[in-house]
Amino acid sequence: MSSEQERLARRFPLTADEEAYFSDAQGRLSVKIPEHYGSLIDPKDPSDPLRRQVIPTVAEHQEDERASFDPLEEERYSVTDRLIHRYSSTAAFLTTDRCVVHCRHCFRRRFTATDQGPATKEQIAAAASYIGAHPQITEVLFTGGDVLTLTDDALEAMIATFRSRRPDLVIRLCTRVPVASPERITEALLAMLKRHDTAPFYLMTQFNHPTEVSPAAIGAVGRFIDQGIVALNQSVLLQGVNDEVKTLVQLCKILVQHRIKPYYLFVGDLVQSTAHLRVPLRRSLALEEGMRQQLSGIAMPTLAVDLPHGGGKLPVNSVYLQGEVGPGVWRFATFDGSQYDYYDPPTR
Ligand SMILES: *Cc1c(COP(=O)(O)O)cnc(C)c1O
Repeated sequence: MSSEQERLARRFPLTADEEAYFSDAQGRLSVKIPEHYGSLIDPKDPSDPLRRQVIPTVAEHQEDERASFDPLEEERYSVTDRLIHRYSSTAAFLTTDRCVVHCRHCFRRRFTATDQGPATKEQIAAAASYIGAHPQITEVLFTGGDVLTLTDDALEAMIATFRSRRPDLVIRLCTRVPVASPERITEALLAMLKRHDTAPFYLMTQFNHPTEVSPAAIGAVGRFIDQGIVALNQSVLLQGVNDEVKTLVQLCKILVQHRIKPYYLFVGDLVQSTAHLRVPLRRSLALEEGMRQQLSGIAMPTLAVDLPHGGGKLPVNSVYLQGEVGPGVWRFATFDGSQYDYYDPPTR
């Protein structure tokens, strides 16, 4: 038995499928479950929706011939080391490969936890200089890995370098830390962000299940919001975790209750070792439709897919607009099955 398996089995008695994973764990994404996140898991429930996100099973060994390790082709869109420029106004910077929690649905497995560490001074300078030279970029995503695994000092230096080139640059902090290790969100961190407030920060969280919205997590996110930082949530649709209308509706309502706007609900990317967690598209569309019937506009996220071969991120929804049925007459089918027409302004 590997020491990784032993350590895990001490916290969570493993099922046969989970044990079988460790027969071939070498070179795969290691197991990492921080104290707080682990405390939300019921160790006696083998189908706990949080357990499914962090404890691997033998299903990860399954080869998916259509999947890859870089389906978004981020390598191809890299313009400097670790800076991905795929969309005109937004760039993504891989601040570090480290994460506080190793999600089994991780779509950046080619990079996550590969012992590369935080971006170097040179990598940061090169990325900031690229953004300085490309004024069409108005936002940068600080992602990884997880940006909040950086020390306050390292993060401060990174922010200062980017903002010295572009004081107006909107910075999105993309992180699972408030969910998984909320104690990391300290007054000192918030005070540091405040010192660099020449442009907005946005907090991009990833809550996938209502149980993750713990009092500690809400407190952590609340610290950002109290400072005027907008919090947006990106969930991943995961089989056996949140693939029920009831769960998703509950999640979105709780988030709105705590000032967090559900932003995206992602269909799983075509990443190797994650097939067992992906939800078929027809089912995803049905879930989206079911959510739309019960949620307010504010509570409703956009279902989105990131197409393989670097096709990009697109919204997915049921086809409500049927087409132009006469000159300037547009027919819609509503989700209860009835039809309504919308008319263009009359031509003179
Ligand atoms: C998702 C993504 C963005 C941001 O997309 P938004 O739709 O603006 O949230 C930017 N760059 C990359 C590489 C992305 O994958």
